[in-house]
Amino acid sequence: MRLCRFNRDRIGVVEGEAVYDITALFDVQPAWPLPHGDWIVRQMPEVLPKISGYVSEQKPFLLSGIRLESPVANPGKIIGAPINYRAHIDEANADKAINHGKTFTSLDQYGLFIKANSALIGPSEEVKLSFPDRRNDHEVELAVVIGKEARFVKYDQALDYVFGYCIGLDMTIRGPEFPGFRKSLDTFAVLGPWIVTKDEIADPNKLGLSIKVNGEFRQNSNTSYLIFDVQRLIEYASRFYTLYPGDVIMTGTPEGVSQVNPGDVMEAEIEGIGRMQIAIARDWVTPRL
Ligand code: MN
Repeated sequence: MRLCRFNRDRIGVVEGEAVYDITALFDVQPAWPLPHGDWIVRQMPEVLPKISGYVSEQKPFLLSGIRLESPVANPGKIIGAPINYRAHIDEANADKAINHGKTFTSLDQYGLFIKANSALIGPSEEVKLSFPDRRNDHEVELAVVIGKEARFVKYDQALDYVFGYCIGLDMTIRGPEFPGFRKSLDTFAVLGPWIVTKDEIADPNKLGLSIKVNGEFRQNSNTSYLIFDVQRLIEYASRFYTLYPGDVIMTGTPEGVSQVNPGDVMEAEIEGIGRMQIAIARDWVTPRL
């Protein structure tokens, strides 16, 4: 099943070109204080069995006529894996504009990082470069959406804690600052076009993923090259913190990262999930202080 958020917080099921509004199946009036995680993803185990009966009596929207938002509205955290493809580690260590004097070794040593939730946007919005004079890169990544609370999870059980998968863009300014800082600018976390539930993905560690900029391939790889695969990332992350429904793990980017500039259009695709286009804003101007 493909679940999206669209047209200002409507929740939808995508079937081919049709999108059915299933917002009515959810409790959308949370009471403060909110539990950790995303309020809607948390309700999915109860709602999923009701969807097909409900949808059969609804009139669909057309996919081409809606605005897609980030399919998770309020993840408790967005976790990033900085160096999780061998060929990306090699290109980073070979390019001072990427490594800024660091030598990247392994995730075991560097660990993960957290991207601010306030960076999150969906495909109908635009990435805004607040520092267009610096190097701003695209990083296409398989994004894992957690489905239930996970703590000290073992490798063999890790996929039990997954709700589904999306395309993630881990937009990044290169520079000497800590990753969580450089990767958390507003609009620097893109999720979309929808969540594909895990039952539709036979093996998340065997998916082609790519990104084109202005029609030209920049990254084109396969999650089979992940160093920490999806299960190991969940096992590793859940040793450091509890994962909650709606938490997102961006699994790392393959080689081919490169600069984007105002006016560029990115088109990202992951096998079994779909494709999304997202633009770098042309007219966004950083206020001068
Ligand atoms: Mn990344």
